[in-house]
Order: sequence, then structure tokens, then C-alpha cells
Amino acid sequence: MADVFAKCRLPEYQPVKDLGIYPYYHAVEERAGDGEVVVGGRVLVQAGSNDYLGLSGDPRVKEAAVAATRRLGTGSGGSRLTNGSLALHEELEARLAAFLRRPAVMVTSAGYLANLALGALLGPGDVVLGDRLVHACLIDAVRLGGARLRRYRHNDLEHLERLLGACDPDAGRMIVTEGMFSTSGSVCDLPGIAKLARAYGARVVLDSAHDVGLLGTAGRGAAEAHGLEEAVDVQTVTFSKALGTIGGAVAGPEEIILYLRHHARSMVFTAALSPACAAAALAALEIVAAEPERRRRLRAAARRLSGELAGLGYAVTPSDRPVVAVPVGEDLRCFRLWRELFDEGVFTTAMISPGVPPGQALIRVSLTATHTDAQIDRIASAFAAAGRRLGLLPSTPERTPP
Ligand code: PMP
Repeated sequence: MADVFAKCRLPEYQPVKDLGIYPYYHAVEERAGDGEVVVGGRVLVQAGSNDYLGLSGDPRVKEAAVAATRRLGTGSGGSRLTNGSLALHEELEARLAAFLRRPAVMVTSAGYLANLALGALLGPGDVVLGDRLVHACLIDAVRLGGARLRRYRHNDLEHLERLLGACDPDAGRMIVTEGMFSTSGSVCDLPGIAKLARAYGARVVLDSAHDVGLLGTAGRGAAEAHGLEEAVDVQTVTFSKALGTIGGAVAGPEEIILYLRHHARSMVFTAALSPACAAAALAALEIVAAEPERRRRLRAAARRLSGELAGLGYAVTPSDRPVVAVPVGEDLRCFRLWRELFDEGVFTTAMISPGVPPGQALIRVSLTATHTDAQIDRIASAFAAAGRRLGLLPSTPERTPP
């Protein structure tokens, strides 16, 4: 008889550990200041955090979390449906609805759970058309709902149209995309998606995890930036990126949100968001609205780093998006580069399948508005040294970063 635990005895990552290039679960011991962390007793530039606006360390956000903890305790004590709902959650929902200009919002305990909640809207007769790069939690929502998943090539609307055209005429259709994609930093083609959704009677779900707080003049995300907020039926957000804390939300029409409050398993069967996180998200939202200069700084930082990496010879397109993806290809080569960068004092993220398509491993660098130019130049210098050592770059640089 097979043992369900047998697979755990020979972990596939052990050879990578033996080579000393395992890039995961390295614990941060301390924050060493803005943009820096201590790992294994060494101060590293934090180049892999999604704390895009630097709000996780902002004194106003931290103080809001502390004050809420003093007033309401460290936990919520139960699910929102039963005894865990706080007036603070409702205040946050109202504030988010006003900020996002959506009729209603449901706050969840993580961004993952906000997307998973969408499973409640789906059934076996439905088809979800998802960009090839959408996040795992959207895929999990489709599985939970028992719907059929059809994936279109990244931002390839001809492919999307073909898949829409091939749907059973009676099937419910939902197009899911990220606003700014977490692994590539690219932005979805919302105008094209909106047109196809209208033509084929599909609902549009936009995961704004990486674009709320960043894109759009007011920071409402990719839909605001495209001037197409009405084309999006449901928008999901997470608090773990630009808002600097933990939690998530689904925003959309009243009837959808009310339905989800009663049917979404990731809402009903898990403890409500902690008071500290709810208060932190509220404080962060105020800063997102009041300090657009953080978005501008982030864009300038991204232009600087992506320009420097492209100048070194990496296959990076200069842009103002805070996620800079450096394509590497094979997993092992990606782990080696990650390790060299780590040794150079830069803490990045190694992304392999299933986070990205197989064979397309990449080093993901994410920037924060509080990174200084000197820190950005340190990241680029580390890439220069590491790339040359591994033979990914010519040994004589065409242009060295300052
Ligand atoms: N959506 C996207 C696009 C993400 O990248 C992530 C997390 N990286 C999530 C949702 C889940 O958010 P959280 O980590 O806050 O649960």
C-alpha cells in the first residue's frame, strides 16, 4: 500500500541545498533601516519585498496598529460571519469602497483569501479565461469552484478571443487578469480585455494586488490608469504590498459582495483580520491618498534600476514599474545567480515554476519608494559582479553602473 508521506522523505530541493544555493526560507532577523534587512547576521539590501511604498515601517502605520492592539487585542476571536466582525473591519470596508469607488467591499484575512473567495461565484458549467501569468490563488479559486480553466498566453488577446469563441454558448465566462503582473511587472491590456468581454458577454475580474497604491493618479490601480474602472466587474486587492500590512479585499457590486459574505469559504471559515492589520491598512490608505510623491519616487527608482540592468546587458526592458524581472532560464542557473547576489549583499527573489512557466526562471527584484539611489546602485553592482562571475555577462562591462 502506498504511503501518502513517502514523497516527503526525499525532498526534490535537497540537491540544491547541498550545493549551498537554496534561495528560500532565509529568515530576516531585523530590519536594518529603510530598504535593508539583517539575514544570517549580515546587512543586505532588501530587493525582494512587495512593501512598494515603504509603509510597513512607516511610524504612522505602526502606531495605528499598536493603538488598535491596545484597544481591541491581538486577535479577532472568530470568523467575520460569527463573532469576529469588528466595527474596525466595517470602517475599513467603507473606506476602501470610497477609495476604490466601488459600491461594496468585503475584507478578508489575506489577499490570497480574497481571490479564493471568487470560487464561490463559479460552478462546473463555467469557464474562466485566465492570463498565463495570473497568480496561483486565482487558479485555486477556479479549482474550488469546479469551473473549467482556459489559459491564454500572456496579454495575448487574439488567443483570448479564440478561447472565448470556443466556449460552450451556455457557459458562464469570467476573464481574470492581474493589473500589474507580479512576476513580470507588465501591465494588462485592459482596453482589449474590456472590448472582448463586452463582445462575448464575459465578466471581468481584476487582481490589483500589485497595482493598487502604485498605478493611476489616485493610486486606484491599473483600471484607473487605463480610465476603465467600469469595465471591471470585480476588483481584488491585498494589503500585503503597497499597504504594507496583511489582509485583502474583494470590491464590486453590493449583491456580489453580500453573496460572497455568505458563500465564500475563505471568508466564512477563517478568523477575521486582526485589529492591528485592519488599523494599519486604514492608516496606509490615508498615506496612499495623501502622498502621491511616493509613487513618483518609486517610478524614478524603477527607471534607474531597470536602465542600469539593461545597460549591463541583462534582458531587461527599461521601465518605471517597480518589479524588475531578470530572465535566467534554467532553475539551477537562477539559484546560482540568486546566491551570488546574496553573497554580494542583495536579497532578491528566485522564481521558478509554478510561480513562472517551466524553463523561464527569473530573478525578481522589487523596489520600494524608500530605496535610496545608493541602494539601487548597489543592487546593479551586485548584478554586474554576479553576472560576470557566472558568465551571464561579458567579462568586460559595456557600461558599469555608477
Ligand atoms: N494576487 C497576486 C497577484 C499576488 O502576487 C499575491 C501574493 N503575492 C496575492 C494575490 C496574494 O496576496 P497575499 O500574499 O496578500 O495573500
